[in-house]
Amino acid sequence: MSKKKRDIPILDLPIIETHFHLDMLKSMTRDEIVEKTRLHHIEKMITISTNPNNLDEVIAIAEKYPEIYCTQGLHPHEGKEWNDDVRAHVLKNLNDISKNKKIVAVGEIGLDFYYSKSPRDEQLKAFEEQLQIAVDHNLPVVIHSRDADEDTIAILKNFSTTLKRKGVIHSFTSGLELAHFALCENFYLGFNGIITFKNAENVRDALKITPLEKILLETDSPFLTPDPYRGFENAPYYLPFVAEKIAEVKEVELETILKHAYRNSLDLFKF
Ligand SMILES: [Zn+2]
Repeated sequence: MSKKKRDIPILDLPIIETHFHLDMLKSMTRDEIVEKTRLHHIEKMITISTNPNNLDEVIAIAEKYPEIYCTQGLHPHEGKEWNDDVRAHVLKNLNDISKNKKIVAVGEIGLDFYYSKSPRDEQLKAFEEQLQIAVDHNLPVVIHSRDADEDTIAILKNFSTTLKRKGVIHSFTSGLELAHFALCENFYLGFNGIITFKNAENVRDALKITPLEKILLETDSPFLTPDPYRGFENAPYYLPFVAEKIAEVKEVELETILKHAYRNSLDLFKF
């Protein structure tokens, strides 16, 4: 018999979910997930696009729910899908004033040499071209980088002066070198349920060197459910557990984390 899990705390301050994938959540209907999320004071959420098939879907979701915003971009796993048609599709959505009101970033884009689901050269090309789209549209970027620190740094260096609004290295699991580089370049680092995992000492080390002014909260749901709900599908209403763990690692009051993360999210995404 498993022991009863601690209820999800209801916090007094508003929270912004900066990275999740509502179109991939399956445990309840979308209406039910949004309703439950409201009860937990999640004030705004960004549902992230990843592939050619959900570019329009995330916009439709953002149009339906007032508190949900979205992005446009191809995940590094989908690098092989990046071509002229997909670029035209992204540009059409970004330029269409009836569709672009709630698009707050280009993402998630980047490099993943851990799974290498797309060839490296195609990942690199998709990453660079989508960074240029962010430059051209004056949008921030949502970056996914796994086992690719060196190339991520090299590419971002090339955009150091042109990418004005910077962005976030989401689900930060990289080494301290990328953390230092990103922070020096004025990027934010996104932390999620991984920081509650026993074996994630490296992620907690990165969190320790991240100033409060650069921390963003995310779940990356449906993946990476925080303790004590591992084994359940993740959702934005578990964010209080992420915030609590960040406060513990940073040795500050929970309220301090919530206030900073909220402010940081507004500063970056300008909802
Ligand atoms: Zn994601």
